Amino acid sequence: MTEIFKGNFTQQEPIPEAGIEAALQVMRSGRLHRYNLVEGEVGETALLEQEFAAYTGAKYALAVASGGYAMATALRAVGVKPGEPVLTNAFTLAPVPGAIASVGAVPVFVGVTEGLTIDLDDLEAKARATTAKVLMLSHMRGHLADMDALLEICAAAGLIVIEDCAHTMGAAWKGRASGRDGLIGCYSTQTYKHMNSGEGGLLITDDDEVMARAVILSGSYMLYGRNGTVPPAHVFERVKYDTPNVSGRMDHLRAAILRPQLAMLDGQCAAWNERYHVVEEGLRGTPGLTIVERPEEETYVGSSIQFLLLDWSEAAVGDVLARCMARGVELKWFGGAEPSGFTSRYDSWRYAPSDPMPASDRILLGIVDMRLPLTFSLEDCAQIARIIKAEVSAVFQAAD
Ligand SMILES: *Cc1c(COP(=O)(O)O)cnc(C)c1O
Repeated sequence: MTEIFKGNFTQQEPIPEAGIEAALQVMRSGRLHRYNLVEGEVGETALLEQEFAAYTGAKYALAVASGGYAMATALRAVGVKPGEPVLTNAFTLAPVPGAIASVGAVPVFVGVTEGLTIDLDDLEAKARATTAKVLMLSHMRGHLADMDALLEICAAAGLIVIEDCAHTMGAAWKGRASGRDGLIGCYSTQTYKHMNSGEGGLLITDDDEVMARAVILSGSYMLYGRNGTVPPAHVFERVKYDTPNVSGRMDHLRAAILRPQLAMLDGQCAAWNERYHVVEEGLRGTPGLTIVERPEEETYVGSSIQFLLLDWSEAAVGDVLARCMARGVELKWFGGAEPSGFTSRYDSWRYAPSDPMPASDRILLGIVDMRLPLTFSLEDCAQIARIIKAEVSAVFQAAD
């Protein structure tokens, strides 16, 4: 009998009841704007900032409208200017080069390794070959590069590191929370990330001046004293006249939904990893399929899983995707020439011209990606792995 998987790859869990209750209270109050507070009230948005700063160990956190907005704000806060090159990953998603382009800067793509992390040799070479002052480091699909080696290269090259932690909220390198190694860490709370407010983002830093700029950029007017975590007033005095207001605040409603999710985040991460391990173990030993082994130093969050069909023909990869889809397993492919759904390649972002990267192209052509929503049971995950293993094996043997 041929098994068919019946689950839904885009179905998230409901918002926790505590979040629904808090959201109702915000709506009943009518005070949805983060600066609409009564005497003595801190507000959901400021409380979320305090709690997220505490969770990551950062001095400051700022809640904003989206992850992409957090990244663009980070670039503005460190003074990236129009026309300036900004290094970033070739293997990432469209909002990353999009954030760079949104400030008029020019993305310069750095290659990807078989471990699905940024190629550190290529990083070193491109840091040397360009005048880039900033690396927008995308921890794409939750894979962390050797952060110690990366920081060393960036320090030597004088590069400021901004981390895109859209897929690493709750992850760590040698115990250091993802987002804490760079000058700034950026997170998304969009529906498909580790916390769900529909849309939303967070930015963290320890730097007084960067945070003062980011707060004003986010649209604080002169009400920045009401934010959850703020540098001393004299820092704002230095920056408030020459920092534009580029409105992108988070409202109380989203923050109310997120606070109970933050309290549960570590448990959610453990639940993702249980599912990840079941799929990973189920895929081991599949002929022609390469497991992406995770380094010991990395504490990851397995909210999605990737494997490689390295050096397969495009037709054969397409065949695997179609056969799995017919059995209810929705896989994404990063090698597709045309952008589709959420997936696209560095060379499809034509506003950012790139030289060919054959070594990275070989890997991108082989990356197969699958989301692991927490609405899947462990048995669902085991079944998904059985289906993928059977279909990859069938196509591999036929091609042999
Ligand atoms: C989702 C995502 C972002 C941006 O998040 P939004 O909140 O959707 O703007 C940034 N980087 C990566 C890798 C993402 O997947």
